[in-house]
Amino acid sequence: MTLLDGITAVVTGGSSGIGRGIARGFAEHGAEAVVVADIREEPKEDGPPTHELLEAETDTESVFVECDVTRRSDLTAAVDAAEAAGGLDVMVNNAGIWRAEDFLDVTEDDYQRMMDINLKGAYFGAQIAAERLVENDGGGSIINISSIAGLFGNGNWPTYAASKGGLTMLTYSLAHEFGDRGVRVNAIHPGGIQTMIGGEPSEPEAAAEQAQQFTQMVPLGRYGQPEDVAGAATFLASDLASYVTGESLVVDGGWTSWR
Ligand code: NAP
Repeated sequence: MTLLDGITAVVTGGSSGIGRGIARGFAEHGAEAVVVADIREEPKEDGPPTHELLEAETDTESVFVECDVTRRSDLTAAVDAAEAAGGLDVMVNNAGIWRAEDFLDVTEDDYQRMMDINLKGAYFGAQIAAERLVENDGGGSIINISSIAGLFGNGNWPTYAASKGGLTMLTYSLAHEFGDRGVRVNAIHPGGIQTMIGGEPSEPEAAAEQAQQFTQMVPLGRYGQPEDVAGAATFLASDLASYVTGESLVVDGGWTSWR
């Protein structure tokens, strides 16, 4: 028996970064099938598409579904693919964007795009998943990838923090609503994880200096990696977390431990 023996999962934003790490982690822990749902099939980092990687490295069945999480119909197609592959057990609402901004300069379009992807995408991903999990006699797990900004805010990226704060409250609300049907709903709050979410640094020297300052500030002394978040997601997806719902699991190397 492995931790995720026989489960079928959808991971939105699963082609790159943290989502790719979670998809790999699920496969390494014995998932039967993983649906990679993303607007892009090719990862931003080097290597083959996630679904090809999983099929090459593990016994997990994996498919790619082109999915823009701002469209409910695309999310439905991703969940349908999981149903076809064995029946949905775990939904990971991970797709998200981030950008630094000055609050006074944020336009309505900037605001809407951030909210549509980070909050609306996860909201309807959770709605479709919850409906299917209940129809399939209950049980299962919904994991929302929020952020430490979704717990504590951040003046350098206020729209992002607002979108992730909304996701945190959605998580707690759905845990309340669906607990009686055995559906667990939890949030993961990553800190600084090394991915290409903000794009390549435009000034590599400044970025290197920033990285040095960051690692000095974080108790564990390093950036997080997608695998670090994958470990937390694997736990929340598994029966080891059978009595855990409505929880916020911070994965930040201790960055916010002083709070
Ligand atoms: P990433 O490396 O940029 O990967 C995100 C993936 O989602 C990319 O493949 C991206 O494609 C895709 N995506 C973007 N918009 C989408 C949409 N509308 N529908 C479907 N897929 C979409 O980002 P990451 O760092 O892994 O972040 C994953 C999640 O973790 C996000 O929710 C993020 O807010 C959260 N998080 C990250 C960090 C961090 O330090 N990295 C910290 C806290 C929380 P494109 O790149 O082509 O848009």
